[in-house]
Amino acid sequence: MQNINEIEDLIKLISKLPGLGPKSAKRIVLKLINNREEIVKPLTKALAEVYKNISRCKICGTLKPTSIECSYNNCKIVEKKYDKICVVENLSDQWSIESSSIYKGYFHILGGTISTIGQKKEDLLINSLVERVKKDKIEEVILATSATVEGQTTAYYIQDSLKNCEVKITKLAQGLPVGGEIESLDDGTLFSAFKNRSNLNSNSE
Ligand SMILES: [Zn+2]
Repeated sequence: MQNINEIEDLIKLISKLPGLGPKSAKRIVLKLINNREEIVKPLTKALAEVYKNISRCKICGTLKPTSIECSYNNCKIVEKKYDKICVVENLSDQWSIESSSIYKGYFHILGGTISTIGQKKEDLLINSLVERVKKDKIEEVILATSATVEGQTTAYYIQDSLKNCEVKITKLAQGLPVGGEIESLDDGTLFSAFKNRSNLNSNSE
């Protein structure tokens, strides 16, 4: 292979994407350079637009146009008013739940779990969740973290953080397969996990 810095850099960048190693990255780069007008040009534009105009909300963690700022008592991302917040680990979980149409309400994306390597509690949007619950008219917080040790530890920590708020806290049903990550569940499993969610207030002191 010729040593062209620009191409080498591109291969390195693409191989950082999920599921792609250096070999697939090379195939992608070849496809790109053979399709300058059809792919490279519009892709460059699309990437620049996303970089410039789209970011994660610092309060609720969802994707939003950078120009819109949420406040604690006013989520500007969804136009309707809801009284429920569904707490998930990542954007991919939000997308799975949204596409299954099981749930209508606000989302709150933590940005990971407590014990994920290198992930500190302070990096997760837990304080802003508590603020949202206090300041918006929220009646139910649904904990939809994964059925992994990290997911459950995070759910427990959130439940504890919300103990002084007068809000119903529920958790997705135990029917979730152990180790089950929300994004990998089929719609049927998600539906029953939501429908049979358990109330955590009743068994807390
Ligand atoms: Zn927001």
